[in-house]
Amino acid sequence: WFSVSLKPVLNDVSNPQYLMHFHDLSETKKTDKIRSDFIANASHELRTPLASLMGFIETLAGPARNDEAARDRFLKIMQDQAGRMSRLIDDLLTLSRFETAWGQSSFGEVDLKSVLTHVTNALSPMADQNGATIKLSFNEGLVDPLQLRGNRDEIIQLFENLVENAIKYGKDDGRIGVEVNEDSTGQNFIIGVHDNGPGISEEHLPRLVERFYRVDVDTSRDKQGTGLGLSIVKHIIQRHKGRLNVKSKLGHGTSFLVTLPKIQPK
Ligand code: ADP
Repeated sequence: WFSVSLKPVLNDVSNPQYLMHFHDLSETKKTDKIRSDFIANASHELRTPLASLMGFIETLAGPARNDEAARDRFLKIMQDQAGRMSRLIDDLLTLSRFETAWGQSSFGEVDLKSVLTHVTNALSPMADQNGATIKLSFNEGLVDPLQLRGNRDEIIQLFENLVENAIKYGKDDGRIGVEVNEDSTGQNFIIGVHDNGPGISEEHLPRLVERFYRVDVDTSRDKQGTGLGLSIVKHIIQRHKGRLNVKSKLGHGTSFLVTLPKIQPK
């Protein structure tokens, strides 16, 4: 796709000359397509729980009006569906915030140790419920304080999403490891979130960070997934000039490796 515009280059009426400009619109078209796909996907994802809610409201207002047992059961399902919509809206808002506001005004020094301790403590009740354990460890060679430049809330959300996935998609009595290392240059932290769950087959790995991409849609719904968690992770890492790598082996587990630039200790 191109747009063409003409600009006069000389003011000589007897010998008019124009410069023809070609503007390549393929990038704009691509962005438009991504945006409209996103809106279509988001509407579809929201419509599913909404349709279910409307169905139950109708049933409760009509045939099940006086059926106490059915009412309790339906209310529980309605609560789950409303919770799902609420999570979707939260994730959609987070994503759109990242995609529109690229400013880094709220960046400061973030202490990685304190962030990861916060995340693992906050998620240990969820791990307990699944019979899983989370172990946080730091390579002995690292020199305190472990600091990076960024937004604390975003870094918390990044690791919450990864550890939550390790709990959700890992084994019931799984072992989850959060390990902090530095790379060979000493310029970057490498934070690994490992689980010993069922793993992800290779063909899915490159697509995991796409919005709404889920390896197994039914399992993910059961586990209260929106398919947006890893795209949020990708955006946060990009904003912090880092990198994400995923390694997985079917039947053995998955490792998400996050590389984030360090602030060098003085
Ligand atoms: P969701 O909200 O569905 O969890 P994510 O974007 O966080 O969405 O993850 C996308 C998909 O990647 C999940 O639906 C799941 O199929 C898969 N996935 C993510 N983390 C893991 C993991 N640790 N082990 C196995 N599969 C995973």
